[in-house]
Amino acid sequence: AFNFCAGPATLPEAVLKQARDEMLDWRGTGMSVMEMSHRSDEFVAIADAAEKDLRELAGISDDYAVLFMQGGASSQFSTIPLNLLGDKSSADYVNTGIWSKKAIAEAKRYGNVNVVASSEDGGFTSIPDQSTWNTRADAAYLHYTPNETIGGLEYDFIPDSGRVPLVADMSSTMLSRPVDINKFGLIYAGAQKNIGPSGLVVVIIRKDLLGKARKETPTMMNYQVIADNGSMYNTPATYSWYLSGLVFKWLKEQGGVKAMGEINARKARKLYDFIDTNDFYANPIDPRFRSWMNIPFTLADDTLNGEFLKGAEARRLLNLQGHRSVGGMRASIYNAMPEEGVDALIDYMAEFAKERG
Ligand code: PLP
Repeated sequence: AFNFCAGPATLPEAVLKQARDEMLDWRGTGMSVMEMSHRSDEFVAIADAAEKDLRELAGISDDYAVLFMQGGASSQFSTIPLNLLGDKSSADYVNTGIWSKKAIAEAKRYGNVNVVASSEDGGFTSIPDQSTWNTRADAAYLHYTPNETIGGLEYDFIPDSGRVPLVADMSSTMLSRPVDINKFGLIYAGAQKNIGPSGLVVVIIRKDLLGKARKETPTMMNYQVIADNGSMYNTPATYSWYLSGLVFKWLKEQGGVKAMGEINARKARKLYDFIDTNDFYANPIDPRFRSWMNIPFTLADDTLNGEFLKGAEARRLLNLQGHRSVGGMRASIYNAMPEEGVDALIDYMAEFAKERG
């Protein structure tokens, strides 16, 4: 089966098999990783190895702390303003889709939000040119969403935020290709796409941004506290952390993010090329800003949606239904989706269009 779910998403089969093999007895300890103390030597080694591998994969220097937090990416929508607004009254946000909007709505609870640019009028099908952004030199930070998972809209550039810390919700693009981490003040990513199981959220924060949390910030949301305690202020999501570590090892075996980026570019190009050359299917996104990870598409006759999905499922092409707010279809093709999965989808789409188009 090929699972095109946007998240929780398909994980590498090799990772799942290793987890299965180690489930009851992790390397002769007589315990599952799930049953280990997070303070034990064994688990601390697992946790350290995961962080080390992530640092190596993403090119994260010692200037940054890597935090394994909980509450998913959504909890960061409030954690970020609580920690980074400091004595500044406002932060800048770019609005390019549903996830941007959620981040903006939450930040408004804690301070003034300046929406510097929005592509909402155009139905979130493009990214506003940065020369038109109304950014402010005294903003606490500039927040953007490099890949809008629902809309399938992705930046092909890293915004220039000057001296203002750049904050990015990389939930659905993290580790999909090389990125210069040094351009960012903070990156966060919900794990359930390219990292591991849901609930875990990885935060990469430049160390000079630690220690600025507001007094009333919940302890569990204070980056400084989490960093000082090696993400073990409380009991961390140990099993998710372990599984993420297995995914990082797998990714290194595939050649790391550079090799993965090439495969991802090829997978996305194939699917978009097919959609663009077949009259039966359409993708509304400005071609320059089409997502590599999430590819929404519509059928020329949407009364056939149900039939399309049923036929897909019969071929074990799973979870192709688009987000409820957008409709149509969406194929999420993260790192763990093999190229054969994309080929199988295209074969099915071609056949369906021929028979029913
Ligand atoms: N941001 C983006 C870009 C996402 O795709 C998602 C989830 O799909 C989230 C935030 C929310 O993540 P979570 O469900 O882990 O809170």
